[in-house]
Amino acid sequence: MIQIINKFYCFFKLLNKNNYCVNYNYKTFQDIPFSLLKKKGIKYIISDIDQTIVSQSNNFLSKSMQKKIEEVQSIFGKDSFCLLTNEPSDKRTKYFNLFGIDVIDSKKDKKPCINTFLNASNYFGEKIKLDTICFIGDRVFTDIIGANNVGMMTIRVDVLDTKSDTFVTSILRRIEKIYIESCLSQTN
Ligand SMILES: [Mg+2]
Repeated sequence: MIQIINKFYCFFKLLNKNNYCVNYNYKTFQDIPFSLLKKKGIKYIISDIDQTIVSQSNNFLSKSMQKKIEEVQSIFGKDSFCLLTNEPSDKRTKYFNLFGIDVIDSKKDKKPCINTFLNASNYFGEKIKLDTICFIGDRVFTDIIGANNVGMMTIRVDVLDTKSDTFVTSILRRIEKIYIESCLSQTN
């Protein structure tokens, strides 16, 4: 219960235009041009798991996703790519470890709280510049506002499988859509 209250507190504190507009939108994780990100000065990649690289109902990486992750690892190095999730489990961690991917537990604060993102950045080393990290996720209210607030580059991808969303998440996505469109209308 305390975690839910804390998550909402973090969310409302961070909900301002500077935080909810992303740097880039892509349809899928596979569409992201990682070589280009490297050229832009990005050195590290952190990705959300659910609905970003696996659907909510399927915990396994598709073959095409495995291939794309191998590409990310070859461009940035295996130690420069990790996953951050609000729903960690030993089983999931073991599964992703098979692909040489570490999973960072978002700890008690959970995304979008600031400490969650700072803890994740420490995975790469203590003196890492936060603007050399790119965070990829499907949710504006958790992934994007938190990563933007600490100064990471942000990429939002479309939800992998809308049918597997929970009822609450599907409602939140509708609200997020309004925020996404307000950002797009400003840039057009
Ligand atoms: Mg997600």
